[in-house]
Amino acid sequence: MSDLSQKITGYDLWHLKLPVTSRRDHGIGSVEGACEVVILRLTSEDGAHGFGEASPWSVFTGTPEATFAALDRYLRPVVLGAKVGDRSAIMARAAYAVAHCTEAKAALETALLDLAGRISNVSVWSLLGGKCRDAIPLSCSIANPDFAQDIDLLARLHDDGVRIVKLKTGFKDHAFDIMRLEYLAQNCPEFSVRVDYNQGLNIEDAPAQVRDVARFAPDFIEQPVRAHHFGMMAKLRQMTDVPLLADESVFGPEDMERAARDGICDGVSIKIMKSGSLTRGQTVARIAAAHGLTAYGGDMFEAGLAHLAGTHMIAATPEITLGCEFYQASYFLKEDILEEPFKVRNGQVCVPDGPGLGGKPDLGKLDHYAVSKAVAA
Ligand code: MG
Repeated sequence: MSDLSQKITGYDLWHLKLPVTSRRDHGIGSVEGACEVVILRLTSEDGAHGFGEASPWSVFTGTPEATFAALDRYLRPVVLGAKVGDRSAIMARAAYAVAHCTEAKAALETALLDLAGRISNVSVWSLLGGKCRDAIPLSCSIANPDFAQDIDLLARLHDDGVRIVKLKTGFKDHAFDIMRLEYLAQNCPEFSVRVDYNQGLNIEDAPAQVRDVARFAPDFIEQPVRAHHFGMMAKLRQMTDVPLLADESVFGPEDMERAARDGICDGVSIKIMKSGSLTRGQTVARIAAAHGLTAYGGDMFEAGLAHLAGTHMIAATPEITLGCEFYQASYFLKEDILEEPFKVRNGQVCVPDGPGLGGKPDLGKLDHYAVSKAVAA
């Protein structure tokens, strides 16, 4: 059977702990030792597979344990027995089967798209409206508390043709942030620099510190204060000419509407792990564009499978104009899970043309890195 009326008969899960090469500090927390993701595999009646990844972070979107439970207990009955082609109906039921758990829902839609694409022999970007670009500029984050290690990373990025970096700020002290901005200005003039506080500033310090950082004229300054501090975000936006971006303040289309109405940002970071699906990420981008706001493709601490999903979303969404930050598979994980490496060439992520996501995980690696799984014998 090669049509989309066949049913989904298999539903397997792996909770992975993937070793990482360095510590990463962000304003809201750190990642050290390992990055945890959950992989979903759907199987159709004729034996075709579709894969999706959920990449939660406990301090940002949610926990891997909650993600695994959402997929295993609450979303499984919504999916098993449904037709492969009924993707919209499945996602509509999933929205109400469990509250929040956006990473689990993103993994589900990714796997449904991958499965439908493989059966129909078309790329996921085609299922999302068609392609508007073949390559996406890559931004890599500078987030190591040991800046000497990040100086080595900068040399590697330069050799690889990467020309955008995002400085993670607000996790140590203001002097450390200014020292690193001065280093970048003096030693790395070929890099575009973005600044991301990940909510790291308190509201008392934010105006003065953001004004200081704005002197370096970065491309933008992202989420200086807590997600719910909409009033302070709006005030900081008014205060400086450097564009202010929202990340943690905007998860899905509903938040985007409010953010635009309240004037809290000039642009937004769109992540499928926040929006809860690729199509909802596209909706966020279109609401932003309708209000004259920019967008880029952000990510969480992900493996290459989630990078592929984000790549297809951006490839099919002309409103996402500021590139992506899918760097973890190449520059953070000790080993990625994909069979073929996530493709970055001359600082640009390459949009795959193969059916589905155009790449899939190595089953041996899934079993090797699994700390728990729910896989049919
Ligand atoms: Mg951010």
